[in-house]
Amino acid sequence: MATRLRVPYVIAHADEALPHPLVFVRRPFTTPRLAYVTPRPGDRADNGVLRARILDNRQGAPLWRMLNTARQWRCMERVLCQVCGQEATDPETGRIPWVITATAFRAIRGVEGSGYTSAPATCRDCIPEALATCPQLRKSSAVATAARSEPAAILADVFRPGPGRTAIHTDRHNVFVGLDETALLRRVLATQLIVRLHDLQPAPRLASRTG
Ligand SMILES: [Zn+2]
Repeated sequence: MATRLRVPYVIAHADEALPHPLVFVRRPFTTPRLAYVTPRPGDRADNGVLRARILDNRQGAPLWRMLNTARQWRCMERVLCQVCGQEATDPETGRIPWVITATAFRAIRGVEGSGYTSAPATCRDCIPEALATCPQLRKSSAVATAARSEPAAILADVFRPGPGRTAIHTDRHNVFVGLDETALLRRVLATQLIVRLHDLQPAPRLASRTG
């Protein structure tokens, strides 16, 4: 039986948490690089960025304020809907519906219709439900469509090397780090992938669409 309130695909669940002890790996002639004590395949994204370890089984109570790093990343790379996890691109128009929220969006000065966001797309069918059930979206959001999106940055926790191989958290959480900031990328643990949106156009009618 369908439940009235779906837990969005991208939301983290309590039993998905994993411990992830970190170290700095030192090799001759290179600056130290953050890694897990016991490295595993998949620790790093395709671009080499170290990602927060998390299970992807949607078990346990939903943690409504947290995104699951694995699913958030997948949504961004494959342009999936953050609510249902299916392809978000509208097959009729070829454009990507996106609910733009003040907290998750950063405009790019001097570039009209463009910006960075850490919130994945929302498919056309899921937009009315997302707006109706999420208080944060109701408060401050606008519905738009984008021509395309591309990975541009991450949100990350920043570490610094301590004595020996130890990794010390600098207390800098959710720092915006561009994918071209190669020196800083060696010292961070990424929690979310940020994309740059191109050719954003307002689409208020999608908000009230039925069926
Ligand atoms: Zn959807």
